[in-house]
Amino acid sequence: MQFDLTEDQQMVQKTARDFATQEVLPKAAEIDREHRHPKELVARLAELGFLGIAVPEQWGGAGMDHVSYVLAMEEISRACASTGVIMSVNNSLVCDPILRFGTDAQKARWLTPLASGKLLGCFALSEPEAGSDAAAQRTTATPDGDHWVISGTKNWITNGPVADVCVLFTMNDRAAGHKGITAFILPMDAKGVRCGTPDDKLGIRGSKSSQIFLDDVRLPADALLGEVGGGFKIAMSTLDGGRIGIAAQALGIARACLDDAVGYATQRKTFGKPIIQHQAIGFKLADMATEVDAARLLTLRAAWLKDRKQPYGKEAAMAKLFAADTANRAAREAIQVFGGNGYVTEFPVERHFRDAKITEIYEGTSEIQRLVIANYLSKGQ
Ligand SMILES: Cc1cc2nc3c(=O)[nH]c(=O)nc-3n(C[C@H](O)[C@H](O)[C@H](O)COP(=O)(O)OP(=O)(O)OC[C@H]3O[C@@H](n4cnc5c(N)ncnc54)[C@H](O)[C@@H]3O)c2cc1C
Repeated sequence: MQFDLTEDQQMVQKTARDFATQEVLPKAAEIDREHRHPKELVARLAELGFLGIAVPEQWGGAGMDHVSYVLAMEEISRACASTGVIMSVNNSLVCDPILRFGTDAQKARWLTPLASGKLLGCFALSEPEAGSDAAAQRTTATPDGDHWVISGTKNWITNGPVADVCVLFTMNDRAAGHKGITAFILPMDAKGVRCGTPDDKLGIRGSKSSQIFLDDVRLPADALLGEVGGGFKIAMSTLDGGRIGIAAQALGIARACLDDAVGYATQRKTFGKPIIQHQAIGFKLADMATEVDAARLLTLRAAWLKDRKQPYGKEAAMAKLFAADTANRAAREAIQVFGGNGYVTEFPVERHFRDAKITEIYEGTSEIQRLVIANYLSKGQ
C-alpha cells in the first residue's frame, strides 16, 4: 500500500488549491450573501478541465481519475461549498451516467460539451413524493409513435435553473416497480419544461436549485438513456459515484472549519495566552484534525476503488456518511472556537455551519447511507 499521489494528481491538487485560494475564496461570502450563481467561476472551472475531470479526453474531459476529482473537489469546496456542488453535479451526476450508458451519438452531442464546460447539466430524480424512496417516481413517460411524452414534477434539482441539459428519470410502467423507471437526456429548452422559483435555502446559497415542471414534453426516441426500464440501475449506480463527490464536498467544508479555527485559535488570546493553548480548545482542534484526515482517507479509498473498477458502493456510502458527520461536527465546534465571532456573518464559520447540513441530506440522507451499508453487511460484503 502506498499513499503517495502521482505527479498528475499533485498537479490537479495544486491547480485546484491555487484557483480556490486566489479566485474562489475571496468571493465565497458574497456569493452566499447574494444567493448568486457564480457564473464566472463555473467558466473558470471549465477552463481548468474541472467540469469533466474523469471523462476521457476523447469526449471533451480532462482524462484524469476519480482520485484527482476528489482532490479538486476538496479544494474548491474548502473555499466555497456552492461552487463545489455545481462542479460535483456536472461531473458525477451528469457526465458519469452519459459516459457509462450513453450511445456514441449521445456522447458526441451531450457529453463532449458537458465535460468541457460548454454546457452545464443537472440530474432530476427527486420528486415531491419520491426522495429517499426514489423508486416511487410519479413523472410519467408514455410512448407516442417514435416519441415519448413526459409529464410530472421534479424537486430541489441542483443547477436546474441554470442547466442546459438534464439527466431525467421517469416512470413508464408503474406496475413494474423500480423496473418501470426509464432515464432520458432532456434539453432544458425543450417545449413544456419550466423551472420553479429557485429554492430559498439555509446554506449552499450560490447553488441554484428548483422544481422542474414537465408538461407534455415530447422527446424523440434517441433521448432515451440506456434501456427502457433500466433507469433505476442508472440512478443508483450514478449516486454511488455521486456520494464520492459529496463526501469530498463535506471534506472540503470540514477542512475549511479546521483551517479557520486553527488560524483563529492561534491569534485570539484570553487569560494571557492564545486559546489553542487552553486544553479545551486544543483538544477540539485535535479531534477535528483527526476526523478530517479520516474522512479524507475514506473518500480517497472509495475513489481509488472506482478508478480500479472494483466494487465501491459500500465504501462510497461510508465516506459520505462519515464526511458529512465530520463536516457538521467540525462546523459546530468551529463556531465554539470563534465564540461570539463564530455567530456573526463577518467571519466564515457560520457559513460553513449552514453549508455543512446539506451533506447529510442530498444524494441519500445519512439514514439512507446507513441502510446501504447495513444492506452490504447483511449480504456478508
Ligand atoms: C439543496 C438540495 C439539493 C438537491 N439536489 C437534488 C438534485 O440535484 N437532484 C435530485 O434528484 N434530488 C436533489 N435533492 C433531493 C434530495 O436528494 C432529497 O431531499 C433526499 O434524498 C431526501 O429525500 P426527501 O427530502 O424526500 O426526504 P424523505 O425521503 O421524506 O425523508 C425524510 C426523513 O426520513 C428519513 N427516512 C426516509 N426513509 C427512511 C428509511 N427507510 N429509513 C430511515 N429513515 C428514513 C430520511 O433520512 C429523512 O431524515 C436535493 C435536495 C436539496 C435539499
